[in-house]
Amino acid sequence: MSDPIDRGGLTPHFWERKPLNKLNQQEWEALCDGCGKCCLNKLEDEDSGEVALTRVACRLLDDDSCRCVQYDIRHQFVPECIVLKPDNLDTHAYWMPQTCAYRLLWQGEPLPGWHPLITGTSDSVHEAGVSVRGLTVSEFETPEDEWEDHIIEEPI
Ligand code: SF4
Ligand code: SF4
Repeated sequence: MSDPIDRGGLTPHFWERKPLNKLNQQEWEALCDGCGKCCLNKLEDEDSGEVALTRVACRLLDDDSCRCVQYDIRHQFVPECIVLKPDNLDTHAYWMPQTCAYRLLWQGEPLPGWHPLITGTSDSVHEAGVSVRGLTVSEFETPEDEWEDHIIEEPI
């Protein structure tokens, strides 16, 4: 499957050379590995602040490509969808999936070996079994009081 993210012409290992807030737009977007896990519904424990990912996907997530099917106009359908940026990463990193490139770099950790920026292909995230491909259930067909039954153990 072709990679919808433009990773062409980037400086090799740019993410190790520049801080997150100095990346240009293409570099920032290229960090996304396309796993789709940030598009899963989460459960947050109000007391402990602990966040659990569930298999219950946002209505716009395609379970096969692991992409948002209406990315450019998604806020018309899902107004609460976050636009992740260097200046709001501090606020959101805690709930991002454990393998998310933005979270890993924010934590000062390296990108995993299966990341498309390292392998050169977006297929590697699926081949490594760390995307949501084939994993999700629909939020329309799964009542909220059953989400707890669909919690997934991270990291996947
Ligand atoms: S969890 Fe992170 S790396 Fe995965 S799709 Fe979402 S933003 Fe991209
Ligand atoms: S609207 Fe699109 S990008 Fe936002 S959570 Fe849903 S599938 Fe993901």
